[in-house]
Amino acid sequence: MAESKGMKEQFWDPVAGFGVTFRTMFRKVVTEQYPFEKMPTAPRFHGRHQLNRWPDGLEKCIGCELCAWACPADAIYVEGDANSDAPDGERFSPGERYGRVYQINYLRCILCGLCIEACPTRALTMTNEYELADNNRADLIYEKSDLLAPLLPGMEQPPHAMLLGDDAETYYRGEFAAPAPGAGSAAPSGDEVSS
Ligand code: SF4
Ligand code: SF4
Repeated sequence: MAESKGMKEQFWDPVAGFGVTFRTMFRKVVTEQYPFEKMPTAPRFHGRHQLNRWPDGLEKCIGCELCAWACPADAIYVEGDANSDAPDGERFSPGERYGRVYQINYLRCILCGLCIEACPTRALTMTNEYELADNNRADLIYEKSDLLAPLLPGMEQPPHAMLLGDDAETYYRGEFAAPAPGAGSAAPSGDEVSS
């Protein structure tokens, strides 16, 4: 009995071990060839943030800092400032204020999404972009210019006057005419992905 057990251990067990390897050779390969091939994320994946625009190019952010207060990691820094329609003034968003300084520190951010839930104007949403690695700390603090959505056809680079209505209410309620062809849909346009 002891001799037959020894034979099994010597000859059969090693072959059985290779059997697992052999079977696996014919199974579907699940290895992802990142970064040469990038797999799409789930649609609601929380990636890099984006600061959205209205269809005329004005910024949706009103500099209220609610996102910064909601952030459990203290990763957001906002400084608001006043818009002005005076001849020597500048307007970046509908209404009274805009976000003059806006930073997200991706060394702190845990991509939880609480900030986008807190935002009252849907200015802040999250894209599916997940490549947020870098080799120095400074480049992982994203400035407003890094986070702003690109200008789509029909949009103008702020500062400029409100082009979709006479007051901010028109914007917030989506009570404006359809934007120029190619500029996207009305209300939440410019939101790449969100919530
Ligand atoms: S996703 Fe979470 S951790 Fe990152 S900035 Fe927003 S609230 Fe802060
Ligand atoms: S992103 Fe939204 S919550 Fe944050 S300051 Fe701008 S408007 Fe306020």
